[in-house]
Amino acid sequence: MQSQLRFAAAVCQYPPNRATWRGSAMGISEQGDTMADERATEKVEELSQLMRHIEAEMSALRRATDTGAPKRAPDVGDTSIEQRVLYLEELVSELFRMMRTFTHPEPQLEVHRGPADGIAIVVGHEADKPGADALTPPFQRDKHMSYEYFWNTELAKWIVEEATAANIRAKIFYRDDVGVTGAYKQVRAWSPKATVELHFNAASGTARGTETIYGGAKSLAWAETLQAEIVKLYDRQGKLNRGLEDRSNDGRGKLSVTQIHPSALIEPFFGDNPDDCNLAVEHKRRLARTLVRAYAKFTGVPFPEGAPEPKPAPPTPPPSGTEQPSPKPPVAPPAQDAPGAVVAAGPAPAPGPAVVAAALDTTGKPERFSDVFWQLAQSYQAMAIDHPHLKGVTLAQWALESGFGSTALAKEHLNFAGMKWREVMKPYATSVSYEAHDGREDYCKFASVDDFIKGFWARLDLMPPYAGWRDNAKTPESFIGFIAEIWAPKQNYEAKVLDLYRRMAEAGQIPSGLLVA
Ligand SMILES: [Zn+2]
Repeated sequence: MQSQLRFAAAVCQYPPNRATWRGSAMGISEQGDTMADERATEKVEELSQLMRHIEAEMSALRRATDTGAPKRAPDVGDTSIEQRVLYLEELVSELFRMMRTFTHPEPQLEVHRGPADGIAIVVGHEADKPGADALTPPFQRDKHMSYEYFWNTELAKWIVEEATAANIRAKIFYRDDVGVTGAYKQVRAWSPKATVELHFNAASGTARGTETIYGGAKSLAWAETLQAEIVKLYDRQGKLNRGLEDRSNDGRGKLSVTQIHPSALIEPFFGDNPDDCNLAVEHKRRLARTLVRAYAKFTGVPFPEGAPEPKPAPPTPPPSGTEQPSPKPPVAPPAQDAPGAVVAAGPAPAPGPAVVAAALDTTGKPERFSDVFWQLAQSYQAMAIDHPHLKGVTLAQWALESGFGSTALAKEHLNFAGMKWREVMKPYATSVSYEAHDGREDYCKFASVDDFIKGFWARLDLMPPYAGWRDNAKTPESFIGFIAEIWAPKQNYEAKVLDLYRRMAEAGQIPSGLLVA
């Protein structure tokens, strides 16, 4: 990334000069002998435009750095420097991609001849750079469904289903291979009446709400309609309606929202906030319908409200034979040692142990911690363990596994790590049976948070696959790096735990007693 940024910085010192670009375009064209003069002119125009985007973003980044703005502004995720750097990276890779089209033929466009019609849906990000990662649970971990790109690919398909049922023309466009500008070139050729790009937000974990991004007056009414409908769907009150953001001048999303009008980029919820995640999972199918309804309102075409809710059983959360429909999505502790998510208790679960003393002092409890997770953190501070410098990172691992102590397994059985039952765990736990979507599984049930902590560490010594972990316990990174693929294979577990650890530490969510080496 460094070299790309340096490249961008160097290029930005030359304000894009059409004659110069045109000269080089023709030069490349002569070498490659593939580009007609007219196409070269068009390319030069596109490149100049992209360079202006990059330049605006570079100077915004410089301004932000010069004024010593906080590295992370908790409630304005989009203006944080990290987000800007990510956006700049996206723009620079866009630039490289566009320069390649000088010498490579571009794919054929599907051109629509009639008047503009229908809704174009652009899926944000790309399969190999899939955007923000939402909390699992309640998002599904398998098939990468917690990432923006994969979550929104499914949403886009549902939007097309809803639109088709309402007799509305609709088509999905992807940024893979062709980038933002390539995707929107296809959108323009397809000639929609309105375009929406699908994303979700991420910031500090505490920020929540719905916002819509657009690029100037020609897209304002469409952005307003989308925002109003999504706000209604999630019943966003007060500050949770974060409103509209005009990004026609600079800021993340600018490249997307300035390609065609009317268009808008939606950020319906924050994927790193537990409450927002629950809303998102619960209402996903309805969000698809909501977006089509917004299109119908905006364009004045009829929308059959009376139609029954489309077929139930959305893949998220996974269906379960025994589960009752419930307003709260089932939170699924990820299966440990083997993939497969637990979605529901079998027979009525025994009432949870009275683990949380009535007088538990919650002073300083981070909002996202459940009471029992807060109690776990408190007890952990007081307890002596062999590797105290690993307390912080293991708390982050438990936060990831238990949704900050919100899963049934955590609340009822004090199992914060999705630990399956093994005979060797007898000194610490008893076995409890859960119905997972791929069959019944036995999990560890702990009588106290202290038993859980002791059992967690003992398990590493008791189970052969973890042999050698103590040789890798020097740092939080080496420890997680060692156990990750054993604990939860092929799930990008190491990166997820370390990323959450970093974010929790930055947000002050790891009690100081857990950070002492
Ligand atoms: Zn995004």
